[in-house]
Amino acid sequence: MNDPVLVINCGSSSIKYALVPASPDQPRIAGLAERLGDVDARLKGVDSGGRDFSQPLHGADHAEAMATILERLEGQHPVAVGHRIVHGGERFTRATRIDAPVKRAIEATVALAPLHNPSNLAGLAATRELFPDLPQVAVFDTAFHQTLPPRAYRYALPESLYRRHGIRRYGFHGSSHAYVSARVDALSERRHGGWLVAHLGNGCSTCAVWQGESVDTSMGLTPLEGLVMGTRSGDVDPGLHAHLARQLGWSIERIDTLLNKESGLLGLSGLSNDMRRLHQAAAEHHAGAELAIEVFCYRLAKSLAALSCALPRLDGIVFTGGIGENDSEVRARVIEQLPHFVLRLAAEANARTVGGREGRIDLDEGGRAPELWVIPTDEEGRIAEETRQLLQEEAAHDPQ
Ligand code: ADP
Repeated sequence: MNDPVLVINCGSSSIKYALVPASPDQPRIAGLAERLGDVDARLKGVDSGGRDFSQPLHGADHAEAMATILERLEGQHPVAVGHRIVHGGERFTRATRIDAPVKRAIEATVALAPLHNPSNLAGLAATRELFPDLPQVAVFDTAFHQTLPPRAYRYALPESLYRRHGIRRYGFHGSSHAYVSARVDALSERRHGGWLVAHLGNGCSTCAVWQGESVDTSMGLTPLEGLVMGTRSGDVDPGLHAHLARQLGWSIERIDTLLNKESGLLGLSGLSNDMRRLHQAAAEHHAGAELAIEVFCYRLAKSLAALSCALPRLDGIVFTGGIGENDSEVRARVIEQLPHFVLRLAAEANARTVGGREGRIDLDEGGRAPELWVIPTDEEGRIAEETRQLLQEEAAHDPQ
């Protein structure tokens, strides 16, 4: 099956798309429609010749933007559409063909992901209009973490909240953690070992992977738990909500906005959620930027140390995402703060492995210390692969 898969990741005001060919050597058409519904809505991307483009969308909504994206596919016909769906609850443990019952089940998880699943469903509706005959496949961000054991996914709360309302840890960034951990297993001689993956983008999460399966992760019921992120706080004392409500009279909505949109690197620095901007400011001794980077690195090191408890053996740490792939200083600072793990960073390889390069950044000392890797993530590639695999399995079961 050589035909491309169209991967769609639909947010509340954006659509990210990629036309992923079966062979990794063939070029990918990809792009992002942003600020949908706004007068400055734009579509930016890259065509099959590797040329960048940018065009106004004049206040387009999701359906109108999808129609423009279709024109940008240069007449190529996808064989299926793979949708990134943020929350699959406990029901979805793998990529799933979207039919009416599956769509209803995704709608039923909206309560667990009110910020994300409704936009994902809007993307699904818009693509169905344009491609009524194509198979539509859901690839869930939570599915890779459905292998977590109860000790990792249960909160210390009354059981009825779990049984009746699904209150448990789910984890996110599944396609990224799945891709990166499979890739390191293929590249390293320590195959099917124990890896800690740090996905550091605007959202950040860590994951412990043992023999190809997620055994613990830093995000929980929602993508707010865990690490310091661009604008998300990560872990806070759960007593904070009651305190802010009682002392400042804040509503739940206000607190939710605080923790999701005004906190993290942005809140700590008072300046920006962009790590590059914070490095510039820290070089000029901006105290908020220095503190934000310090807290970010310390909390990340603490999370990696904690997640190592989930692994029978630690074979290495892998960095990915915009910060993980590019920020050699953050990587060095995190490793410095894990002295008990006897990690041996190779300074030159660390400095060199940026801008989409893949490679090992430890001093290879004959397998004594855990390895350190930088692996650029490929969530779209993983979603396309899972979509293709599902169709192949269906074809094998039903050769008609
Ligand atoms: P998303 O989670 O939205 O996909 P990305 O994975 O692109 O985001 O990561 C965005 C983050 O990566 C931002 O904080 C950005 O500053 C950071 N980043 C990108 N390039 C660099 C770089 N060269 N050095 C440091 N940080 C970088």
